[in-house]
Amino acid sequence: MVDSKWLNLIDGKRVHARSGKTFPVFDPSTEEIIARVPDCGTEDVDAAVQAARRAFDEGPWPRTTAQERGRVLFRLAERVRKEHALLSELEARNNGKPIVEAELDITDVATCLEYYGGLATKSSGAVNPVPDDALSLTLKEPVGVAGQIIPWNYPLLMAVWKLAPALAAGCTCVLKPAEQTPLTALLFADWLEDAGLPPGAVNILTGFGETCGAPIVAHPGVDKIAFTGSEAVGKLIARAGADTLKRVTLELGGKSPNVFFADADFEAAIDGALFGIFFNQGEICSAGSRILVQRSIYPKFVEALVEKAKRIKLGPPLDRATKMGPLVSKEQHERVLGYLEVGKQEAKLALGGGKPRGFDRGWWVEPTIFVDVPEQARIGREEIFGPVAAVMPFEDEADAIRQANDTVYGLAAAVWTRDLNRAMRTVKAIR
Ligand code: ADP
Repeated sequence: MVDSKWLNLIDGKRVHARSGKTFPVFDPSTEEIIARVPDCGTEDVDAAVQAARRAFDEGPWPRTTAQERGRVLFRLAERVRKEHALLSELEARNNGKPIVEAELDITDVATCLEYYGGLATKSSGAVNPVPDDALSLTLKEPVGVAGQIIPWNYPLLMAVWKLAPALAAGCTCVLKPAEQTPLTALLFADWLEDAGLPPGAVNILTGFGETCGAPIVAHPGVDKIAFTGSEAVGKLIARAGADTLKRVTLELGGKSPNVFFADADFEAAIDGALFGIFFNQGEICSAGSRILVQRSIYPKFVEALVEKAKRIKLGPPLDRATKMGPLVSKEQHERVLGYLEVGKQEAKLALGGGKPRGFDRGWWVEPTIFVDVPEQARIGREEIFGPVAAVMPFEDEADAIRQANDTVYGLAAAVWTRDLNRAMRTVKAIR
């Protein structure tokens, strides 16, 4: 049975999956089941899309003034700030991230709602230059029903990154959280009505990608898809969205270069490299997973990096001293452990490389550093999405830029130097 607080939100009501099916949600630090949630399929998606469609075509939300839409988002932000402790703890329990990091996320959730609350009234159109005595105006209108599919690394933050802009614009939403981490979005669902959202403006349903995500993408009643997740699924969604000519926004993976020149502030550089790859267990699409270091400081850099990484404290997510938690799921754990074995064949292991001792239950991985990673090595080219750093040397600026750009990805990059001219040249040259 699903506890009533973990039910779907469809048309303003908390409901079970039509099939009655459920699936478990885990605490990744203990592998214990902490909740059961509805396992939704096509029928549930159809009900949610119909509710969102009605709310858009006939309901008050798109016809509400921008000022009032903004105020609704501000009220939600206030509620999130009020329930900050509750949300942070639930996020840390469900995702496995350290509580201190979860608290930062939840503050960001409120800030994001406030940002879009303000933006609701700032969107303007244009008067276009046209010949003769005609008048041409561009009016910004809400797109319609937005289908929103999100990953598990920042569960509630990802949810509001999708919901807040859509609501600010006057769209209505069908949101599917990641199957691993639906709980904070379901708690948040309780506060929507109080904040002033009409029924059907936001619908939230839990389920798996193929059975619940894919029907959202395929549904003709959905006007737009916003997706954050893996490159592989992003490609599926772009293709599937084309069948009904949906607008599609994708935010996908990365293998981002973090580039350290010899003149960088050394202490800041080491901290920046560690933060870039080990924050949030490395489960970040824009993680600085390729650490490129200028040859002249390479040995000293590697030594300092490894020494400092040894001090990263693994522990229970709710312990305030914890710096790194477990990975989110069994699948992710297996995937990352698989890459560690690949890495041991390809490069030199300088730290970690497996499960930490003394952590028998839970999906833990040691902070891992591979050094002297060859340019063609898989661990230097493929997104691992875990606490695994690939460190490699470069010779000079041209070599740094070449290596940084030698990737199929293009999500993020960082450059560390005290030479401002070089900083500007390099960040422009890295695509
Ligand atoms: P990860 O590998 O990090 O779990 P995914 O891209 O598989 O990332 O998942 C991100 C989101 O996409 C999740 O909400 C997941 O359920 C959803 N998803 C996965 N496969 C599909 C699919 N074929 N169609 C739509 N959504 C999907």
